[in-house]
Amino acid sequence: MYNAKAYSAASATSPLASTKIVRRDPTEHDVQIEILFCGICHSDLHTVRNEWKDAIETVYPCVPGHEIVGRVTKVGSAVSKFKPGDLAGVGCMVDSDGVCPECQAGLEQFCPNVIYTYNSPDKHLGGITYGGYSDSVVVNERFVLRVPSNLSLAGAAPLLCAGITTYSPMRHWGVTKGQKVGVVGLGGLGHMGVKFAHALGAHVVAFTTSPSKKEDALRLGADEVVISKNADEMAKHAGSFNFILDAVAANHDVNAYINLLRRDGNITLVGAPEKPHAIAAFGLIMGRRSLSGSLIGGIAETQEMLDFCGAHNITADVEVIPIKKVNEAYERLLKSDVKYRFSIDMASLKSE
Ligand code: NAP
Ligand code: ZN
Repeated sequence: MYNAKAYSAASATSPLASTKIVRRDPTEHDVQIEILFCGICHSDLHTVRNEWKDAIETVYPCVPGHEIVGRVTKVGSAVSKFKPGDLAGVGCMVDSDGVCPECQAGLEQFCPNVIYTYNSPDKHLGGITYGGYSDSVVVNERFVLRVPSNLSLAGAAPLLCAGITTYSPMRHWGVTKGQKVGVVGLGGLGHMGVKFAHALGAHVVAFTTSPSKKEDALRLGADEVVISKNADEMAKHAGSFNFILDAVAANHDVNAYINLLRRDGNITLVGAPEKPHAIAAFGLIMGRRSLSGSLIGGIAETQEMLDFCGAHNITADVEVIPIKKVNEAYERLLKSDVKYRFSIDMASLKSE
């Protein structure tokens, strides 16, 4: 065991602050990684503030962070995929049982025994797992990803959650050239959704509550931008979408988007607000539309997404911050003031 530097929250109402945590020495299947950048996902904020307590209670102290890129510093004797000096990524999961039907299907995120990168039982040290707001992490090699070397590391970190969470449902629902695809909410996830839908050849419409993001949305790959508070603008798109990805972190009227789907169209929710949505049955019944959800993506698909990003030179648009600005960044997330992902430069933790 060894001490690592980290930022943790002591309670749902405490700011994140500098601390020391214990990490395990790498076992034979483990990879030890020096963390270089970690993205800030809105899920970090939901968890730190215990907003998901009805589904998963947060255990404190909580060290969030599941958009990790870094360099391998040590590997266990049985590790074959990585060697010291390699670039490596870690997303939302660090373990699963490996034998259930979900794992066998490459869908580890749905394994009943999945271990998340933070706030999950730690079978090695007891207590709970600690995430990437830290200078190092030790992870079983099955859950370590290869990061294409042509990508900027600060911009690649968010691919490990925001990237896979938007890529996976688009692949699942068959987004392809010629389709009309909507992306709701231009935050960390949404801006990646726009990039992927564009790269997959769709006609992309971005929906935002922030008129100031219009120019950016077009630059990111949207063909059209709709200010969602404007009912007339919304009405022009009624019944026209094959697929809509809803990446909004707060409660909002999902029915307004269901009504924009064509027959057999699908809207997938990836945003996970604190309170349940109210859904009108008629919106779904009329036109046999469907509403579904999606959780990150499996490990093989995460690697596929990273390789796709390497080939198409896709990264997140990031604002790089030192770790001491993390609490300020959380307040800005709540004001939709992020362009379009905060990425923590973990070198800043050295002076803490
Ligand atoms: P984020 O960066 O804070 O972006 C959320 C965006 O939602 C905002 O930038 C804003 O975009 C829009 N928005 C915020 N409040 C709104 C409101 N009241 N009404 C309408 N739109 C609003 O968050 P994120 O990191 O992308 O995460 C988004 C959600 O996905 C979070 O709930 C997060 O926990 C969840 N998530 C889910 C998964 C999964 O596997 N399913 C994975 C990661 C994250 P505009 O300014 O453009 O309106
Ligand atoms: Zn996330």
